[in-house]
Amino acid sequence: MAANILIVEDEESILELIAINLHQAGFNPIRALNAEYAENIIREALPDLIILDWMLPGMNGADFAKRVRSNSNTKSVPIIMLTAKSEEDDKLKGLDIGADDYMTKPFSPKELIARIKAVLRRKMPELVDEPISINGLTLDSNKHLLKNNNKTISI
Ligand code: CA
Repeated sequence: MAANILIVEDEESILELIAINLHQAGFNPIRALNAEYAENIIREALPDLIILDWMLPGMNGADFAKRVRSNSNTKSVPIIMLTAKSEEDDKLKGLDIGADDYMTKPFSPKELIARIKAVLRRKMPELVDEPISINGLTLDSNKHLLKNNNKTISI
């Protein structure tokens, strides 16, 4: 099952860059250009992770993160914050907004994907570690199973 990743970013080129990279990595990207729209999306369906830009028009990323954390329905959704400058980064880390990770722009999409996988692996390993199949042999590390043509092999 592909993890649903909500991206909240007002710069469309960055939003699209992240979305394309997430899609290529096997995730299902959901796009939001501002925090208000992101709130509506979350109300409809909880994402598996939120990538959240700090500088947003209207409600900023830090305030949005606090709202997500203070709501009992959404408080456990992992958040990776994107910040533009190192000063903002420092300021943000000083604030207790409950983000799971931080990335400073400009960042490499590869690193972002790696961070997303690390956060998801910690929170929901079943979303990241898909069974590996080669020539009829399947290794499912979540269920600790090895199968040969769908028959479980005892190890
Ligand atoms: Ca921004």
